[in-house]
Amino acid sequence: MLFCVFAKSELRHLFEVLSYNCLVGPTVKETSPESWPLYAYEQVFDFADLAFEHTTTSHSPKKYFLPHRLTMASYALNDQSWRKEVHFTPETPVVFFGMHACDINALNRLDKVLLDSTYPNPFYAARRRNTFIVGTSCSPQPFCFCESMDCETVLHGCDLFITDIGELYFCEIRSSAAYQVLQGISTKEAKSEHHALFIQAAKKRKAQFTSQMDTTDLVMILDMEFQAEVWHEWGRRCLSCGTCASVCPTCYCYGTEQLIDLTLGSARKEMRLYSCNLVDFAEVAGGFNFRPESATRLKYRYYHKHRGFVEAFEESLCVGCGRCGQACLADIAPVDVIASVRREAEEDG
Ligand code: SF4
Ligand code: SF4
Repeated sequence: MLFCVFAKSELRHLFEVLSYNCLVGPTVKETSPESWPLYAYEQVFDFADLAFEHTTTSHSPKKYFLPHRLTMASYALNDQSWRKEVHFTPETPVVFFGMHACDINALNRLDKVLLDSTYPNPFYAARRRNTFIVGTSCSPQPFCFCESMDCETVLHGCDLFITDIGELYFCEIRSSAAYQVLQGISTKEAKSEHHALFIQAAKKRKAQFTSQMDTTDLVMILDMEFQAEVWHEWGRRCLSCGTCASVCPTCYCYGTEQLIDLTLGSARKEMRLYSCNLVDFAEVAGGFNFRPESATRLKYRYYHKHRGFVEAFEESLCVGCGRCGQACLADIAPVDVIASVRREAEEDG
């Protein structure tokens, strides 16, 4: 991997070099009732609108790769025949300017299921393959626990990764395209004093995490505690609203629906993101529901993230961004849920 440093004033030039493309980055969308800025990934046209040094966005960048609603195919009918059009043509290239490590890790995990599996999702692939990602280091928030999930840094999945080291930005160059792009701005080779500043910045960030999840032997503990009472306690609180899956950067479950025009002249097939917490998620033909209680649905989400995915891919599907706990109206946060299951396992002994 190649490293360089550049003056903070050069960030604007990097933005300008890349803004010939569709450029998406963190912006201040709204202000919370407590006067905190609420960030969102939006298309950015002006450097002044870019909130590069942002905290966690309320929604993840997932919406650009897996939109909440997507037309997969459309059909046009006439007297003699019908025509079908499948909508997975390659998308326009998109530059993501300022993505945190947890969100890049989330895309890497989605890739395992939607890109690298036996049956890749062409709609996801068309978007994912056509991106240039500039990552940036974060300031841990009270609800983030990405460090516990080994997701506060990334080794692949982006083209550039920029870390604030005080007077300068330290830049990791991860692709040949990134190397070419950097020719458009003024950079210097990273020297040993810059390496030392980078390590100091990483140490400082690590020390700022206040929220932690103990993942030691978690797969086994979850297997042991499948019938634990705590699942019912959390289930009684859960509103089955699906907000947690909506804001989660790694939830990818979706349903499909055929929508037929009233004139019967056209139709389309839509994909809609779904949530395993919604009451009809596990409903099958005949009206039978495999998971009719909120406790079993909530438990399923946790087992998929922290057990099933680990067994299949040797890492959790949760990257510890903390968005689901922040957004949940019932105050259900992964750190608390997992801690309660662990406690129950210890008390059982
Ligand atoms: S855990 Fe929270 S956000 Fe998720 S479905 Fe239940 S109430 Fe909604
Ligand atoms: S489960 Fe929650 S904390 Fe984990 S990745 Fe999804 S939103 Fe983030």
